[in-house]
Amino acid sequence: MGTRESWSSWKKVFDITGRKKPYLHLERASSEGICFCKCKRALVAVPDQLDCPWCGCGWLFMCVFCGKAFTYAKAVPVNTPLAEIVERDLVGRGWEKDRTMTREGVTYMKWMLEQVQEGVQYGFLDGLLVPMGLRNIKLDGRSAVHRIKILPHERELKTPGSLMKELSRVSYWTRREHKPK
Ligand SMILES: [Zn+2]
Ligand SMILES: [Zn+2]
Repeated sequence: MGTRESWSSWKKVFDITGRKKPYLHLERASSEGICFCKCKRALVAVPDQLDCPWCGCGWLFMCVFCGKAFTYAKAVPVNTPLAEIVERDLVGRGWEKDRTMTREGVTYMKWMLEQVQEGVQYGFLDGLLVPMGLRNIKLDGRSAVHRIKILPHERELKTPGSLMKELSRVSYWTRREHKPK
């Protein structure tokens, strides 16, 4: 088990006063949908998708601070360097400090955060960031190929419970699985 830092040690992540180069990170946008994170504010952690995307690791965000899941994220400026956030996050999860792992995490997050726009809300699906409002979605994810009309995270807002019902089904994922090469 890792030892997570207290919320107060993270608080200044959001303080951009006097900083020349804040950059956009993803923050929990609401507590709607599935939300186990109770932090005052929450940043998105490096996705940790395993071979069981249906458990939530393939379709929920994880909070850097408490390690718990949430559904919706939006862009927010932060000042703490990404590498520091990623390293503190991984150490908090119980990993040894490891340069390679930190670098891989940073690369992934950079790629993800490059796409982020202020004012847009996102859901997470199969390793990818998906803007809410998108229709007729075609995604080539880490585990599966998704051809869906609407993001299940968006449907959840009108039909609470539908997100869990749809994406926690193993068959949702196995039916769309990448063909073995
Ligand atoms: Zn999983
Ligand atoms: Zn949290």
